[in-house]
Amino acid sequence: MRIVGVLALQGDFEAHARALEQVGARPVLVRKAAELDAAEALVIPGGESTTMLRLLEDEGLFEALRAFGRERPIFGTCAGAILLATEVTNPTQSSLGLMDIAVERNAYGRQIESRIVRLAPEPEFAREAGDGALEAVFIRAPIIRRTGPGVRVYARYLGDPVLVAHGRHMAATFHPELSSDRRVHRLFLERIEAGNARAG
Ligand code: GLN
Repeated sequence: MRIVGVLALQGDFEAHARALEQVGARPVLVRKAAELDAAEALVIPGGESTTMLRLLEDEGLFEALRAFGRERPIFGTCAGAILLATEVTNPTQSSLGLMDIAVERNAYGRQIESRIVRLAPEPEFAREAGDGALEAVFIRAPIIRRTGPGVRVYARYLGDPVLVAHGRHMAATFHPELSSDRRVHRLFLERIEAGNARAG
């Protein structure tokens, strides 16, 4: 059974822990750097990326996560995706820089702060995770404005990438843990199992 850490400083980490259990992984809540040791991979949940950054720095976890991500897979959702990016705007803030994506925070604006949509994922998603529309819950979501050459796009919304992978890492600007469809968490688990074989 895969042991997957869930960063539990702030945000909706409990829903991720449940989703990981449902796909057959063993979640461990991570609040301190030492708790990363047992984890083969990590989920960084949604929440408030500025608050999370501050807590990461207070706990000495920022550098620990960066080092973790150089060897093991991380899946960031929403605020977690913001933390994984190389570039963050609106406003500019520091990030782990583990995925070659540029994100603009709160980019859908006030009117569509939160919405639930059904996406038609890219063929790659269907091939690796299974057919069918994918529900996506957006909550004050960022938009991925740029993806580097090694980034794989699994799904888009209104033309912008919303589910991407780069090397061993994965990011979603929506909240798959809040839907009942477990294909996204299963995909992350499969990518862990495949090691870095599918990178690029
Ligand atoms: N708007 C939040 C941020 O910028 C992200 C929202 C979320 O994670 N649901 O950090």
